[in-house]
Parts: sequence; C-alpha cells; structure tokens
Amino acid sequence: MNIDIDHQKQNLAGVSRAELAAAMTEIGAEPFRARQLWHWIYHRGSTDFAVMTNLAKPFRERLAEQFALRRPEVATALTSRDGTRKWLLRFADGNEAETVHIPEEDRGTLCVSSQVGCTLTCRFCHTGTQRLVRNLTAAEIVGQVMLARDALGEWPSTPSGAGEDRLLTNIVLMGMGEPLYNFDNVAAAMKIVMDPEGLAISRRKITLSTAGVVPMIERCGRELGVNLAISLHAVSDELRDVLVPLNKKYPIAELLAACGAYPGSSNARRITFEYVMLKGVNDTPAEARELVRLLRGIPAKVNLIPFNPWPGAPYECSRAEAIAAFSDILFAAGYSAPVRTPRGRDILAACGQLKSASQRARRSERAVEPAEA
Ligand code: SAH
Repeated sequence: MNIDIDHQKQNLAGVSRAELAAAMTEIGAEPFRARQLWHWIYHRGSTDFAVMTNLAKPFRERLAEQFALRRPEVATALTSRDGTRKWLLRFADGNEAETVHIPEEDRGTLCVSSQVGCTLTCRFCHTGTQRLVRNLTAAEIVGQVMLARDALGEWPSTPSGAGEDRLLTNIVLMGMGEPLYNFDNVAAAMKIVMDPEGLAISRRKITLSTAGVVPMIERCGRELGVNLAISLHAVSDELRDVLVPLNKKYPIAELLAACGAYPGSSNARRITFEYVMLKGVNDTPAEARELVRLLRGIPAKVNLIPFNPWPGAPYECSRAEAIAAFSDILFAAGYSAPVRTPRGRDILAACGQLKSASQRARRSERAVEPAEA
C-alpha cells in the first residue's frame, strides 16, 4: 500500500491559537511564530508553507516536514439553478457531511454542519433518517468555512461587513446535526471563525439553530453570543412531541423560558423561531394565533419555512394561501414573519434535505451518544 505521508502530519488548518502555540513549542520555535502562522492560515487562507515569505526558508521547510494545511476533501460539488452551491465533504476517516452556500443580493450565507448524521429523528427532516455517526471536530467545522472561502475565491479575509461585496458574510449552524449536542467543538470552531485577525466573521453574523436543547441555551449565549434560532414547528406539546421528539424531554414551556432568558437578546437582536409549514398538520390560523400568544414577552421574529420534500417524506408543503394567512396573523400582531424562500431544492440543498451516505461503523466503533440524548 502506498502510504500518504502528508495525511499523517498534524493538520494546522482549523486549529485554535492555543493549539498552534503548542505546535510551535513542540518544534522549538519562538512563540511569536504562532501569530505569524495564524495570519497566513486564517487571514490569507494559505495551503502551502512555501508562500509564507516572512518566515525564513529553512523554517518553512521544517514546518512542511512536520505539519500540513489540509482542507476537507470535496467528494461532490453541485450548483443549483438559483446559484446555491452544495459540497459533500469527506473527512480524513472517510465520513461525509454537507455544507451549503446560499448567495443573496445583500449577503451570502454558509450553512455549516455540526455532526455526521443526527440523533434527533425529527419526522419531517431528511437528516433525521440518518443515524448519528459522530460529532464533527472543531477543525472539521472550521474546515467547512475555509473550503467555502477557497471555492468562492475570497481570500484574504476581511472584517465582516467591511469593504466590497463579499460572497460569504454570514454563517448559519443549520446543516446536518444538532449543534448544542456538539457544543464544545462548535464553540471552539466559532471562536476561531470569529477571531478578528483571521476569518473575522462577527458573532452578529452567526446564527446557531437548535431543536431545543434547553440546558445548553444559556451557555451558548454567554460563551459565544451568537444569534439564536429555535426550531419550534408546533404550538402544542402533543404535536411537537411527534414532529420534534426532543420535545418530550424539553417541552415548549421550558424551551420558551430559556429563550426569554437568552443572554444578549433584545428587541434589536431577536431570537428567530423557525416554523416549517406542513399541510394539514400545523398550518391553521388558530395555530398562528396560539404562536403569537406563546411568544409574548420574548424578543422574537418568526421564519416560516415551506416544507422541503425529500424521497419518502411523510408530509407535504402547506398551500401558498395557508402560508400567507399564517404570516399575516403574525405580522398583524407585530412580528416579522418572512417566508423563507426555498433555495437549492433541485440539488437537495434546502433546509432539512441534507443527508450523507455515511453509516455507523462496527458496533465497537460507535460514536458515544451525547449525554443529553
Ligand atoms: N438540529 C438543528 C439544526 C438544523 S437547522 C435544529 O433543529 O435547529 C435545519 C432547519 O431546517 C431546522 O429548523 C429544521 O427543523 C428545518 N427542517 C428540517 N427538515 C425540513 C424540511 N424538510 N423542510 C423545511 N425545513 C426543514
């Protein structure tokens, strides 16, 4: 067998400042080298030590012998008719997850995955039909952002919102997986992504979406201060227990109480409540009015998501009139309630359509179930 030496080297693309400093110590380099490398890796997006011209040539060679600057491998890349792009990424152990870029007029959003598969089994979600294989590492989460910046040709990084029109301005943790069941890695990744001397995407441009892992919500706000989105989808526990089984553990009242206490939320920075529109299931005017009642007192906006179909899905999308009527009721009560335009449906890149073929390996290699699950 031909052993790929490069794949045995420690990958520095995706590591934290502390890990980078440790790597420099390990090879006996001065501590300030970590800062220089940080700039090349995260500001310039370098994938080759040879370009790092402020480092002496022998040192660059030394780095190349010892370390690598790898991206996740692109197994498949698809582009939708509407410009949405989807990458199926293959990580070093062969497991795969998807990342989606959604270009809009005034911004570009990258939808990032946090796990391979998912434990939640939400009834209407395609990812939910794939068992959890494993959590993604922090480096694999950061790697999705770096890969996108490569593909979009947007190195060097500039502070978000600054300068010319950028294709990658926002991040949503709305890909495969439940980010609050992989919080440590998600948090480590977002701290790298938010670092102003690197990828420099501000916490105000990052939204973490959760199905409602109540005990982790406060910590998310305190440690990361990113925007919060909640996959609500139903106004009664009876129905939400079916649609989002996690509700049996953390029912609506507890979830909303945690939202009301979310650090950093205000009328200027509202929590987004996502509500998938399922025909004949959760889309009546009475349910819209009940939603208004439930949200009272929480700085909230609502995002209505037309159901995106996938092979074998047990639901249909609500009729356009039902969605409009639902939105009107929320709007009349003072809530912003835009209908999320489906993007990338033709390449199965829209909300809830992501899935990879990765399966759990042998029993002995099973990923450890999160303690909350
Ligand atoms: N696990 C997190 C992150 C996934 S975000 C969460 O549940 O929030 C993906 C969003 O798309 C969630 O709001 C999810 O409920 C929604 N979604 C899932 N399947 C969908 C589908 N088929 N059509 C529309 N939205 C869907």
